[in-house]
Amino acid sequence: MTTEVNRESWQQLADQIKTGEQQPKYTIRTFGCQQNVSDSQRIAGLLESCGYAEAASIDDADLIVFNTCAVREHAEDRVFGNVGEIKHLKAKNKTLMVALGGCMVQQPHIADKLRSSYPFVDILFNTNELHRLPGHILNRMLSQKSVLAAECADYAIYEGVPIKRDQDFRAFVPVMYGCDNFCSYCVVPLVRGRERSREPAEILAEFRDTLRQGYKDIMLLGQNVNSYGKRPDDGTDFSALLRLLAAEEGDYVLRFMTSHPKDATKALFDTIARHPRISRHIHLPVQSGSDAILGRMNRRYSVRQYLDLIDYARKVIPNVTFSSDIIVGFPGETRDDFLATLKLVEQVRFNALFTFIYSKRVGTPAADMDDGVTHRAKTERMAQLLALQDNIERARLGAMIGKEYHVLATARDENGAGEARMDDNSTLVVDGIDGINQYYHCKITSIKKKTLHGKVIANT
Ligand code: SAH
Ligand code: SF4
Repeated sequence: MTTEVNRESWQQLADQIKTGEQQPKYTIRTFGCQQNVSDSQRIAGLLESCGYAEAASIDDADLIVFNTCAVREHAEDRVFGNVGEIKHLKAKNKTLMVALGGCMVQQPHIADKLRSSYPFVDILFNTNELHRLPGHILNRMLSQKSVLAAECADYAIYEGVPIKRDQDFRAFVPVMYGCDNFCSYCVVPLVRGRERSREPAEILAEFRDTLRQGYKDIMLLGQNVNSYGKRPDDGTDFSALLRLLAAEEGDYVLRFMTSHPKDATKALFDTIARHPRISRHIHLPVQSGSDAILGRMNRRYSVRQYLDLIDYARKVIPNVTFSSDIIVGFPGETRDDFLATLKLVEQVRFNALFTFIYSKRVGTPAADMDDGVTHRAKTERMAQLLALQDNIERARLGAMIGKEYHVLATARDENGAGEARMDDNSTLVVDGIDGINQYYHCKITSIKKKTLHGKVIANT
């Protein structure tokens, strides 16, 4: 499945662009999840290897790339709005090129709409074949014809794509692409294709690169990391992959997302418990606290099984914390179903919740289910869920005063005041750091509104 991309043809392309009088400039607008952020870093790497430089502003760009998201309608509306605004830039700058990739473009009805109603779009490219973008740009330049074929030739994994990581404190390393789960509400399997895992050696090499570049917070990415490695020849599963990576020396934290509860095993939690370099924070999306809704969502676990997982993890991993995703207003969600979700949130007491109102997605089984939940009920339920989570978070934050935590400094001003991240991803304002991208032991001194304040008590 693995194919090495043709570096020589990129070099040729780079040379062709470099002989121009000016260096062309690009900018990328990224929507959606961490996978898209990671893809955009590869798009930037590709463009820079072809001689492009990052534009200081959108007005300065010769190429604008939109890396889009299709998970909810709201994300798509934002993209359409943003792309629409480019039209006036095109009128001013005749050589400006506009390219759209990402999950949204992989939906045939959206690609059709872009082709018919947004004629100023030059390129639609497939999110599973990012490496073809430079070729599309060249085609557009040489043939003057738009390149609007977003279909995927195959779903191979293309290794060797250059990566331009941003200066953020965290590095993303994809371990797998696609998804086989077909949750009934979700468009991801339709747009990103079947699940496929990268070879452990490729992941290890990229992971080592991030450590060499000084990253101390590395997040492994996949739609369902727990089913990593179903097909590679050597039988490495996700726990084995974690063990392989966490054996690397260094002062770093290894994280991953997302874990599907149906594939989370005791072996995974045992692995985390035994490896101090693996984060004690686990994102474990539950989606609903009602078995009836979980069944219709095709999630393939029950509330009991989910709670048993949480109990097991809490037993074997001291100080483990959880965050989760919840969908409110799934078709047919009754008041009792929703109350069951509130009950589950009360029971687990997540450190953070990502909450979404159900959004109907073309081509998914849930799109054919009777909705039956009014818009008003959805927004009221959402407000109730957020209020409950807010109370839980305030109580947790209040109980942290006076306690000590291991934090990664992420920003600092000239007086030594700065910001840091805790293992569970929450931020705090901290005094006494002398450099960023270092770990410190920090004592929480106060909480203002919902922001934690602390001071450094030791370097680690
Ligand atoms: N693979 C990840 C999630 C990817 S999408 C997982 O299974 O956890 C991120 C989140 O978006 C999902 O967990 C879900 O809560 C939400 N989501 C996905 N499709 C949605 C839809 N149609 N409407 C509302 N929320 C949705
Ligand atoms: Fe979507 Fe479910 Fe796959 Fe997550 S596991 S990407 S929610 S189908």
